[in-house]
Amino acid sequence: MHSIVDAYSRFPKADCGYCGNPSCITALRRHCSGEMPLDQCIFFRTGALDPQSIRCPPATESSGVPGISYINPCPSDAHAVTVEVSLASGEHAKHGYYDMVTLDRILGGHVPSLKVSPSLGMARIELEGRSIMAFGEGRILIRRALDEEDALLQLSRAMRQLWAAVN
Ligand code: SF4
Repeated sequence: MHSIVDAYSRFPKADCGYCGNPSCITALRRHCSGEMPLDQCIFFRTGALDPQSIRCPPATESSGVPGISYINPCPSDAHAVTVEVSLASGEHAKHGYYDMVTLDRILGGHVPSLKVSPSLGMARIELEGRSIMAFGEGRILIRRALDEEDALLQLSRAMRQLWAAVN
């Protein structure tokens, strides 16, 4: 099966903005959502790259009902809990709610406890014993939390840590 990362590997990756998108990955995601013909890109329009080489993956399925689920005990620690936050995939996330390619390009290597795998469509950050995992289709798992409140507090701290890294 083709992935968004396979298709991106065949993109120019010049991020020139000619097509009106801020980056090639945005252009690809819009193309795969049916919102941008490839000939808007100067590389495909001029024949420098072959549009036939770009094969979009199937649209991402949203997993489960949006909301917060409380899982007790945590599968990896019987004394702790896991909280799952599910976001609706929706109209604007046909190829993933989270863009792991851009996340890896912006933050990969800059936040020591953050590991991003664009090809697997997931990211993981360790914070004070908790493991926070985000999946491309729009799910976040907070594992080894003390309780639901602690899980959401750690999620908030992780988000602030990522935000601080780009500001
Ligand atoms: S015109 Fe092509 S190379 Fe430039 S940003 Fe758009 S997709 Fe990327």
